[in-house]
Amino acid sequence: MDLNSLIRDVENFPKEGILFKDITPLLLDAKGLQESIDKMAEEVQDVDFDIVIGPESRGFIFGVPLAYKLQKGFVPVRKPGKLPYKTIGQSYDLEYGSNTIEMHIDAIKPGQKVIIVDDLLATGGTTKAIVDLIEKLGGEVVKIVYLIELEGLNGREILKGQNIVSLLKY
Ligand code: 5GP
Repeated sequence: MDLNSLIRDVENFPKEGILFKDITPLLLDAKGLQESIDKMAEEVQDVDFDIVIGPESRGFIFGVPLAYKLQKGFVPVRKPGKLPYKTIGQSYDLEYGSNTIEMHIDAIKPGQKVIIVDDLLATGGTTKAIVDLIEKLGGEVVKIVYLIELEGLNGREILKGQNIVSLLKY
């Protein structure tokens, strides 16, 4: 199935001059949703890992079903003030603006192998901040999986050395 046809381009969102890749038509399509999770699972089926981690909110959409399918746990990365227990945080520059993300201090144990999942790789800033948080807790990132990669923004550069895969490239 052509997953490309289920990604909608929205001009000037969330700001003037940004062409936003809208994944909601894919989520709405039963086969498209299933195939995207199944393909992500195929990409990591031979990888030895303990935990799936994903940032709010679209990283949850793909991360939780992937973890469920592979019988792993899921760690949520959230915006400041959203997680109830003790957190560690990391600030980073976004494609449009800047941001801080947090995770629980006990979410990852030293030596655990982690897969990061998100809907889209743009500049790589979000993922780099997640990598930094995981490494602060002593975890190891073994693979990073995206639905979409915007190749022109060269997010792989800031993530050099990581094993990265994306299902769709633009
Ligand atoms: P980065 O940190 O790589 O610059 O931006 C990626 C993050 O911003 C991801 O968490 C992703 O959800 C969000 N993002 C940035 N641009 C887009 C876009 O065009 N479409 C979607 N769906 N998410 C985007």
